[in-house]
Amino acid sequence: MDTWYCNRAPDIVTKDSKSMIHPFIVKGYKGLTVNPYQGCQHRCGYCYATYEWSPQFYDKIYAKSNAPEVLENQLKSWKSKTIKPVMVSSATDPYQPAEIRYGLTRKCVEVLQKYNVPYYIFTKSTIISRDLELHKRYKNNCFLVWSVTTCSEKIRRVIEPGTPPANSMFSAIRKFTRSGIRCGVNVDPILPLITDSEEDIESIVDSCNRSGVDYVFGAFLRLRVDIWERMQIILKLLGVDNGLDIYRKTIYKFTEPLKPCYNIAASVCYSSKVLQHLKGKVLEKGMLFDFPEFLEERHIKTSKNNHHNINDTKRQVTLARYM
Ligand code: SF4
Repeated sequence: MDTWYCNRAPDIVTKDSKSMIHPFIVKGYKGLTVNPYQGCQHRCGYCYATYEWSPQFYDKIYAKSNAPEVLENQLKSWKSKTIKPVMVSSATDPYQPAEIRYGLTRKCVEVLQKYNVPYYIFTKSTIISRDLELHKRYKNNCFLVWSVTTCSEKIRRVIEPGTPPANSMFSAIRKFTRSGIRCGVNVDPILPLITDSEEDIESIVDSCNRSGVDYVFGAFLRLRVDIWERMQIILKLLGVDNGLDIYRKTIYKFTEPLKPCYNIAASVCYSSKVLQHLKGKVLEKGMLFDFPEFLEERHIKTSKNNHHNINDTKRQVTLARYM
């Protein structure tokens, strides 16, 4: 198993990609995604993007050095006159440390803007602050989402040792909300017995509120065989008494061995109480417990069809539907 819990710097290598924009389906809803990197230096133990066929996910990062050119070529020859919002990124953090050196996410975003493509950014990083002005000039056509799991430094150092502390993330978020850019926080995944106490939830909601965030959402951890292996270590490292048994018998209700690629959701009986508490606190602070539906399918600006009205809309693909 790949070791996420260490301070080792990853190898970063470049590679060429043949295709950069891909269809993306979650729960039956379709969208598009762009991943300028493969692998992720943030080292989240609960990461869903670590599959068995990516054994060096945390330790070998691929920078797709031709990403902006390939993306531009794909958009230039786009078959349809319209394009759905693009998620940047679905299987890596687009603003992980490699971005400082390669700037591929920035260049891909510039291409998306050039072709009038709406986008969502998903990150846990503060490096995105470098691109404040870039996103600001496109603020009506983008939505930035930070994934925040805990305000506890003790817990963060174990579960996601490569991420910045929550207070740094919230300082970065504040810069964006003050610039009029729409920002959300996704409290995801909520880790049972680790980050799901009332105090944990309230501390994140209070920080969201102080940072000017309007939209908050959350979801519970889903277990998969490789995630369960890492979660067992996390529960032990954090000294969660009886954690393994409670996960097996009460919260996720499974027997081992788990089948590969099989996802298990937390029991509704357990998760709904926590999610209701999160929702209640979010609404109490005047924020929305949802993601907005303002990003719409747009007419793509290519040399052939850049005369179209960009406000023309078709079926909306919303962030909530991606979740
Ligand atoms: S930031 Fe996202 S992609 Fe990177 S390790 Fe964490 S969960 Fe995985």
